[in-house]
Amino acid sequence: MSLLTVQQVSKAYKFHIGVFKSRKFFALKSVSLQVRAGEILALVGESGSGKTTLGKLVLRLEKPTEGKIFFDGVEVSNFGKEYTRYVSAVFQDPASSLNPRMSVREILEEPLMVHGYKDRERRILNALVDAGLGEEYLFRKPYQLSGGQKQRVAIARATVLEPKLLVADEPTASLDASLRKGILELFSKLRLKGISVLLITHDIRTVDYIADRVAVLYRGRLLELGTKEQVLKTPLHPYTKYLIQNIPAEHPSQRRTTQIVEAQANAEEVCPFYPLCEHKMDECKVELKEAFIDGRLVCCNIY
Ligand code: ADP
Ligand code: MG
Repeated sequence: MSLLTVQQVSKAYKFHIGVFKSRKFFALKSVSLQVRAGEILALVGESGSGKTTLGKLVLRLEKPTEGKIFFDGVEVSNFGKEYTRYVSAVFQDPASSLNPRMSVREILEEPLMVHGYKDRERRILNALVDAGLGEEYLFRKPYQLSGGQKQRVAIARATVLEPKLLVADEPTASLDASLRKGILELFSKLRLKGISVLLITHDIRTVDYIADRVAVLYRGRLLELGTKEQVLKTPLHPYTKYLIQNIPAEHPSQRRTTQIVEAQANAEEVCPFYPLCEHKMDECKVELKEAFIDGRLVCCNIY
């Protein structure tokens, strides 16, 4: 069952090219996807592809230019403040998302107060323990925590209201490789409790650990969406194939340099991978067809 439905969503930003002149460009163009109840959907794409923009739209921090987003069948703009009880967020940099003046206990208590919960002690402790920290952390302040511990506190804060969906935007990007796995395992644990996760990452390796399905975004377009096995083991879109062949090795000495530079949002082009695609055809400049193959979506005219 679909918990979150993103329906043909576009997001345009204006940017100034002179004092009185501005241009509009699409950071997202006609993106449709669903997050099912109890799954981890990974949204992957290189820097600038529109991942954070989609996360912000889901969190209602921004509004779509076109299209609609539904949560549990209701358009998200129809919810009041209770929306933050159902959908919460974890961001990349825990150092800037935690108030440095508050203790861990105060940080975790805040959302419970906002929503008028009475049994706060119990909920705070549960969330803290579920995030892999103990009672002894309650009275620490963020500066007394390591990076990994801060991110655990951020996850505890995001789950203290027992949300249905967690949007995690590059949650491990600011952590040392040695800490990443532990944080990713926390998301798997959350799924066991029935919490769905929209896991945003530029690092396709992250996905291999924990995702159920994978959505590939490039320059604001959704190019492929399928199960983790489909997308990682037998990718169909030429861009996904390219991305997987060029996964940077863990160790810098084994890394190949990649041809693609950072994606510039330019989602008005029909197929954003056209300039680099080995299979390009004239029709790719005019139309981008969707195909469903074994239940997976691939937006490419060769299928
Ligand atoms: P990602 O998270 O995949 O790196 P973003 O969603 O942050 O990508 O950005 C997608 C594109 O939209 C980028 O080109 C970025 O510069 C642009 N963008 C993001 N937010 C804004 C904004 N508030 N105003 C103008 N442009 C923006
Ligand atoms: Mg981002």
